[in-house]
Amino acid sequence: MLGLMQDWPLLCHRIIEHAATVHGTQEVVTRSVEGPIHRTNYAEIRDRAVKVSQRLDRDGIKLGDRVATIAWNTWRHLEAWYGIMGIGAICHTVNPRLFPDQIAWIINHAEDRVVMVDITFVPMLEKIADKLPSVERYIVFTEKAHMPETTLKNAVAYEDWIAQADGNFKWKTFDENTAAAMCYTSGTTGDPKGVLYSHRSNVLHALMANTGDSLGANAGDTMLPVVPLFHANSWGIAFSAPSMGTKLVLPGAKLDGASVFELLDTEKVTHTAGVPTVWLMLLNHIAANRLKLPHLRFVVCGGSAMPRSMIKAFVDMGVTVRHAWGMTEMSPIGTLAALKPPFAELQGEARLDILQTQGYPPFGVQMKITDDAGKDLPWDGKTFGRLKVAGPAVSKAYFRVDTEILDKDGYFDTGDVATIDQYGYMRITDRSKDVIKSGGEWISSIDLENLAVGHPAVAEAAVIGIHHPKWDERPLLIVQLKPGQTATREDILKFMDGKIAKWWMPDDVVFVEGIPHTATGKILKTALRDTFKAYRFPNAAA
Ligand code: AMP
Repeated sequence: MLGLMQDWPLLCHRIIEHAATVHGTQEVVTRSVEGPIHRTNYAEIRDRAVKVSQRLDRDGIKLGDRVATIAWNTWRHLEAWYGIMGIGAICHTVNPRLFPDQIAWIINHAEDRVVMVDITFVPMLEKIADKLPSVERYIVFTEKAHMPETTLKNAVAYEDWIAQADGNFKWKTFDENTAAAMCYTSGTTGDPKGVLYSHRSNVLHALMANTGDSLGANAGDTMLPVVPLFHANSWGIAFSAPSMGTKLVLPGAKLDGASVFELLDTEKVTHTAGVPTVWLMLLNHIAANRLKLPHLRFVVCGGSAMPRSMIKAFVDMGVTVRHAWGMTEMSPIGTLAALKPPFAELQGEARLDILQTQGYPPFGVQMKITDDAGKDLPWDGKTFGRLKVAGPAVSKAYFRVDTEILDKDGYFDTGDVATIDQYGYMRITDRSKDVIKSGGEWISSIDLENLAVGHPAVAEAAVIGIHHPKWDERPLLIVQLKPGQTATREDILKFMDGKIAKWWMPDDVVFVEGIPHTATGKILKTALRDTFKAYRFPNAAA
């Protein structure tokens, strides 16, 4: 017997429709790519998104067609998103930090018909445009006055383009399982893989994000997603904030400490979200200029492990820190480190211990750890295993790739190694390919990195496994010092000594000018392994 409730498909554009109807005057503020601060609201965003739908429809874009965006977080990008999805086309967010050849590969693989692009990325696209046969036209996110001279095919300024629509158009309705958006994983090995979100998965993910133990915002709050729209839906905030009526502040192209600080301050931002590198820049700016952010209450940090020293810096500012783990394939939220009983009352170091975990999953994410043979491992907080996940916003396949990616119980292998304790708190030990295998035991490169960045002279640290004749692999610590600071190998090892098991101590420390990163801000270990492939430990007898 079926229930007698209404058929009300979970469609993404219903979110912006709700925001416009119930929270229409709530502001969306942007530092525009052209420079000035721009202010609009949810009602206007909805009206202009409808025009995007109407205009794409007139250009012959149909259900299932891919429309790419290569853009910063701005109001135009947001309204284009909803406009693309509102006719059942697929909003393909391309990460502009990838190499141009990777961008060309991704656009070709997705067969994007239209590309919407910020002025910043027009020169890069011009260089690869002759390799993009599927693209029929380029829409540049700007108005006539700032439209660059360009060789891009059928290029038009976005404002001129939507001015040709009168807004007399209705969103389309279709099955909630229809694809809504796609995002390619950065793929440090092999080709990038296309993750294809559905309307249903995006809406359910927004609801998962909308709790106090998740992103923690309400209609009375102001959220600044530093995390880009092209990084897994800005962690879902592009859906979650309008669904709650939260004011949005969008940082455009400027993500340095001073620019982010200025927006947090002037817009009285209460909630913000970004990767550790962004928070490092912000905290350095705050410390160097003795600044304060009296309105900031909540910082979400994910994408890479959040160092303990960073958690402490925010806690000392009176800010709630929400360390989160997830991945593009999970839309992306997997777990969040909220303090629940019996930990809520903890203080000092014990409190930091819990805040530093990757946290527990919200309803809608199931997880387990297994050994290599797929056997379930206990949730005892000690046993490491492969972390696997399931849920309505978790991928079951990649776009146009036939390989099976789920195990026999329907779980997706995240490629991470983790422990889970009896309360459900998960701790990432490593990516499975980064964990250091020393004498049959595992050493967590993440734990060593977190510890090393706690040294006052260290800006960033990376640990890789180097072949060792006796132990198979041993850890090499690679350090980038803060500008103007000095420290020796011995200083760093002394700082770490006693804080970890003796056999976890790095066998050597080397100093580099800069640590390479992926397009989503993670340490690029493949490049480091390449740089140090001829390295041998001084103490390792052959
Ligand atoms: P992406 O799909 O680019 O977001 O990358 C997902 C991967 O980033 C995960 O599988 C983890 O390896 C890593 N990651 C994300 N958040 C965290 C975190 N809080 N701590 C450690 N690793 C993380």
